[in-house]
Amino acid sequence: MRLLPAKAGTGIVFRRTDLDGFEIEAISRNVARVSYATSLMKKGVLISTTEHLLSAFVGLGIDNAIVELDNLELPILDGSARPFVDMIQKGGIRKHRRARKYLKILREVELREGNKFIAVYPADHYSVSYSINFPHPLIGKETFKVELTNGSYLRKIAPARTFGSRADEQAMRDMGLIRGASRENCIVLTRDGIENGPLRYPDEFVRHKVLDLVGDLALLGKQVLGNVVADRAGHAMHTALVSRILRDKTLWEEVSFPDQDRDNGSRPARAEAAAGL
Ligand SMILES: [Zn+2]
Repeated sequence: MRLLPAKAGTGIVFRRTDLDGFEIEAISRNVARVSYATSLMKKGVLISTTEHLLSAFVGLGIDNAIVELDNLELPILDGSARPFVDMIQKGGIRKHRRARKYLKILREVELREGNKFIAVYPADHYSVSYSINFPHPLIGKETFKVELTNGSYLRKIAPARTFGSRADEQAMRDMGLIRGASRENCIVLTRDGIENGPLRYPDEFVRHKVLDLVGDLALLGKQVLGNVVADRAGHAMHTALVSRILRDKTLWEEVSFPDQDRDNGSRPARAEAAAGL
């Protein structure tokens, strides 16, 4: 995977270098099947496991980048967003002159499916409250609330790793995914503990759900102003919320804050992220 700078207004675009540079935009319209991970598809070309990188982009305020891939799956690395954050910071971030457009939620949207719930409510900032109830002695009921401003994403969310059982691992391998997976890129749950401790946070599991949610909501194509509440949701409900929001234009408006965003106009309006892995 390689990250390249992109012009203002580009958004996040994946490029398959193994398929003549075929491009797939990271937008809701291209969401394909969603189970263990979120995948994008356009004209039969697939990009799998987009959520951790997209989450890192949102956490760092990156709106525009080209993501080159020579494969259908993004590298899983340590199962969190931290390696992506490090890579982007190493490559450097540049502000554009054009003011960022936000998607401001105007009316509540609530989706329910059995005991799963996801909603977004109007707010002036982007905040998330996530609850999980996972039948495992180390997890159980966990709730995590965070306002995604002032570096809290980088401190509290980016390092949280994905988790799963050996059974999940086999199912994912059967789908052709996680070909690079090992104990180093996910917390492996056993019946009463974990195989590869220690945890990075006692509530690392629910924090990772926030990481996934932020990455999936990136498919809105704009940074969000709203309070998202999720209970036992997953990729399918995250992406369902995205398409529900985009389908009804009375639920939101596009806003910008030109003075706040502009980088004094001193630097050229060009790229945002450049890095290599
Ligand atoms: Zn994840």
